[in-house]
Amino acid sequence: MEWAFSFSGILDTLGSMAETDWSKVLGWPGYRVYRHEINEQAKTLKLWVRRKRGNRKLICSGCGRKLSDAYDSYEREVRDLSCFEFRTTVVIELYRVRCPDCGVKTEKVPQLPSKAPFSKRFEEAVGLACESAAVRRVARELIKGKHWLLLTRWVHLNTHKKRQLNQLFALNRRVMKAYLLKESLDRLWNYTYEGAMLRYLQSWIDQLRWQRLKPMEKLARTLLNHLEGILNYCKTKVPMGVVEAVNGNIKALLRRGRGYRDLNYLLLKAQRLAATKTEFVAFQKAT
Ligand SMILES: [Zn+2]
Repeated sequence: MEWAFSFSGILDTLGSMAETDWSKVLGWPGYRVYRHEINEQAKTLKLWVRRKRGNRKLICSGCGRKLSDAYDSYEREVRDLSCFEFRTTVVIELYRVRCPDCGVKTEKVPQLPSKAPFSKRFEEAVGLACESAAVRRVARELIKGKHWLLLTRWVHLNTHKKRQLNQLFALNRRVMKAYLLKESLDRLWNYTYEGAMLRYLQSWIDQLRWQRLKPMEKLARTLLNHLEGILNYCKTKVPMGVVEAVNGNIKALLRRGRGYRDLNYLLLKAQRLAATKTEFVAFQKAT
């Protein structure tokens, strides 16, 4: 009994040592890794981090005021720099504070500069890659003939295609943001309750504010203009899924246009088709 007890104690020590090492590798000041998960096949690494014990000063993201008490906590997942071949995401435990001036606000964390799902240094690395004119020229060459990749849902891509797309994203951060926004919008069609759907749409539109993606902003406006049709769809689901239909439309669009040189223009056309068709399908179903 005693032996078993001390043995598990050694295992605990080993376990915590591993997390200490991960904390060093990650190197987020003031944060420690308390759990990690490695998927060798998918080549992914996931690290769960929370504040180190002495690190208790919370800063209101609204006004910068220092606060000592947390209102509540939640988790946020962001992409960080890759660790060797492993695509790395960090799940960070964040606090909300009750600020006397701003009300309940998320704390400010230096590693997370924006609402985008990326860490500061990941954004910086991508930004640097995009700054070089030579790289940008390469990116333009790359992007040729890759439009269809951008229009395929991530889950439907094989590893090779995913890698291609990742290379493209590494070179062009705006394309990546647009893609991630497109992917997250897919979730909109899963909602059955109007309230929940509206809330999701609102948060999706909120994300746009930080991205400076004009075509996406236009899409948001179009979605809002067709809100009634979209909410109808929420009540009466089409079995096949509108997303597939929309994807088909986009593919047809690409065939017809024999590929578009200008990504913005393509997105614009796709979104127009998407919104009008969605409303049409939902309307058809309702009548
Ligand atoms: Zn405040």
